[in-house]
Amino acid sequence: MEDCLFCKIAAGQIPSTIVYQDEDVVAFKDINPQAPHHVLLIPRRHIASMAALTSEDGAILASLFTVAQKLAHDFKIDETGYRFVTNVGPDAGQSVFHLHFHLLGGRALGWPPG
Ligand code: IMP
Repeated sequence: MEDCLFCKIAAGQIPSTIVYQDEDVVAFKDINPQAPHHVLLIPRRHIASMAALTSEDGAILASLFTVAQKLAHDFKIDETGYRFVTNVGPDAGQSVFHLHFHLLGGRALGWPPG
């Protein structure tokens, strides 16, 4: 999508610290980290949010979760624990309308979130 920040990051048109990429998924460091490890995982294909997913999107969701699992292992947070979340719409504070999951870890995370 032309005017989408995360489409531009996935295409390499806007700089980011990419920690993983393949043909379907890109993971990069959040610009405003909320934990020692804070990475965003996105599908390369533009999907506005979780609310726009359909039953056809099972494979990309499986890829996103599998990459998150691998990164959690690489960051050595798989034993202490981590969070993998997506914000949907205004009440959840979604600010970028390209589906993304936050992978957060490296400290004790409060629950419920604010
Ligand atoms: P949301 O609030 O769930 O939509 O999350 C959007 C996230 O994108 C926030 O955590 C921002 O810090 C992050 N973000 C915004 N712009 C950039 C960028 O250019 N690079 C990396 N992360 C970004």
